[in-house]
Amino acid sequence: MTHRSGCLICGAELEYFTEQLSCTCHFCGTTDTANARCAQGHYICEECHRSSANDVIERYCVHSDSLDPATLAATLMHHPSVNMHGPEHHFLVPAVLLAAYCGVKGVAKEEKSALIRTARQRSEDVKGGFCGLHGACGAGIGTGIFISLITGATPLSTRERGMSNRMTAESLLEIAQTGGARCCKRDSFLAILAAVRFVRNELGILLPVGNEIRCTFSELNRECLKEHCRFNGERSIRLCRAGMD
Ligand SMILES: [Zn+2]
Ligand SMILES: [Zn+2]
Repeated sequence: MTHRSGCLICGAELEYFTEQLSCTCHFCGTTDTANARCAQGHYICEECHRSSANDVIERYCVHSDSLDPATLAATLMHHPSVNMHGPEHHFLVPAVLLAAYCGVKGVAKEEKSALIRTARQRSEDVKGGFCGLHGACGAGIGTGIFISLITGATPLSTRERGMSNRMTAESLLEIAQTGGARCCKRDSFLAILAAVRFVRNELGILLPVGNEIRCTFSELNRECLKEHCRFNGERSIRLCRAGMD
């Protein structure tokens, strides 16, 4: 179940207080006073609550210290502005990868913020429906944007340009071989795992991903592959078998 009532992050009941408490926003880290938060302590500030999907993705990825791109992605997918399917996933994929990469490499906040901003500009050129209409899923292209940014690739570079294109190719192959109608959740997770594997094998950089990825969006997706999807919440597939080998 995804959380359509209660806390947007974890689904827990909201608690209301008679006095104002100091709360830190889960998405942007701003500290505010509020009289409601969830039983687990999650709070979302007004601005994050009404932000567009790409604004909240940018703000959250710049602010977060998490090194796990899959967990960052799963949290963002629960934000109400992020639709079940939509081109915001084309930015979400490189944004969470850049956040994790910058954390692991100790990249300064200003530089991290600039990288994520550039990823947003580039990903906004990749419109919805690219997977079926142009033969290139935007989540897959998002991994190419990620590699292009961390290697500094341009159309004139050689090795870096090759790596960026190979990254996109590996993601797209994974997405194509999985089959099914488009699912922006599944395809984003597949692309993120392909990128985690790519930077480990090609650059020796380890982006830590939790034990397993369990998607909770099945009932919102008419075309969900259900038990045939490796991320199906009903199944518990160890990540080492789901894409890390
Ligand atoms: Zn919560
Ligand atoms: Zn906020």
